[in-house]
Amino acid sequence: MQHLCHPNCSHQRPGMSRRDFLTTATLAAAALTLPQVRGQAPAPAPTDVAPGAGLPTHPLIDIHMHQSPDNLRGSGGPANTKGKKGGSAARTEAEFLTHQKNINAVGGVLLGGNDYEFELIKKTPYQFVRFASAGMVGGGREAVIEKALKNGAKGIGEHRYEGDIPFTKACLDMAKEYDVPILYHFQEALFPLGVYADFYKLIEKYPTVKFIGHAIDWWGAIDKNYSSKGGTYPRGRVTAGGLTDTWLGRYPNLYADLSATSGNTGLLRDPDFAKDFVNRHQDKIMFGSDCPCTTGSVASCWSVIKLVALNQLQLSAAVQQKIYISNAAKLLKLKIA
Ligand SMILES: [Zn+2]
Ligand SMILES: [Zn+2]
Repeated sequence: MQHLCHPNCSHQRPGMSRRDFLTTATLAAAALTLPQVRGQAPAPAPTDVAPGAGLPTHPLIDIHMHQSPDNLRGSGGPANTKGKKGGSAARTEAEFLTHQKNINAVGGVLLGGNDYEFELIKKTPYQFVRFASAGMVGGGREAVIEKALKNGAKGIGEHRYEGDIPFTKACLDMAKEYDVPILYHFQEALFPLGVYADFYKLIEKYPTVKFIGHAIDWWGAIDKNYSSKGGTYPRGRVTAGGLTDTWLGRYPNLYADLSATSGNTGLLRDPDFAKDFVNRHQDKIMFGSDCPCTTGSVASCWSVIKLVALNQLQLSAAVQQKIYISNAAKLLKLKIA
């Protein structure tokens, strides 16, 4: 059962400082409330961390958030916003800004933000870009995406990789034509046509398109022994030579998104491997949250767990600068140092 934090969540106790939340005890509690997705659960938050271990060390660009504009909430919201019954669809724009402020975000991507009007873009000094997406099914998806691109969206996504089908080709043709990145969610167990092992063919076919990879198969396949048929979160030591790792080394137009519990599991399951992986692909990896909570400061927040995971890798200042901010700034053409 998925537990998402909201304003009256028991994780939030009046009188406690933010730092107090991020203690060993609360992180241990968070481990019990992480979502369970089909089989093996994501790696739990580490329990042996010092207070403050989940605090941001660096200003960051968050390349993976979903947020409905306030003027569409309650009307069913945009079809492409995840978590329609809660999570990011229930969160207000103000709560979103609080979340992002607490993780020290100075910019970010609103996936599926399309050409919607967001008060937060007008109200905040942070820099946001909107990506275009068009939900899962139904006709006219290409037109929805193209309209958003014409109206200023700076990327395409998030889309599930559905395989080498006409819609995929249409999206990639638009990414090429508009010169924008495209962000994919890989989960073959749910989308059997989207065979992960074959995805490299599209990376090769579109060498000028910048692909950003995310989700369960992407992170599972850092391990050579991963099977995308299982669609689960493998844990424990990584066997080197996985497809994701190989492709990141091989293709200059492929980038990695650290978001969600899949990214957290990739970082937490084998910290030695994770440190090496992040260092080797330091020009390709970007911070992303995908967190639906309202605070950005409770121990169960996916962003906070990710910061715990990254902080424990003790990355160099130069690598932190790249993965938190400059890789994304370059890719998104944002003027943030
Ligand atoms: Zn997402
Ligand atoms: Zn959160």
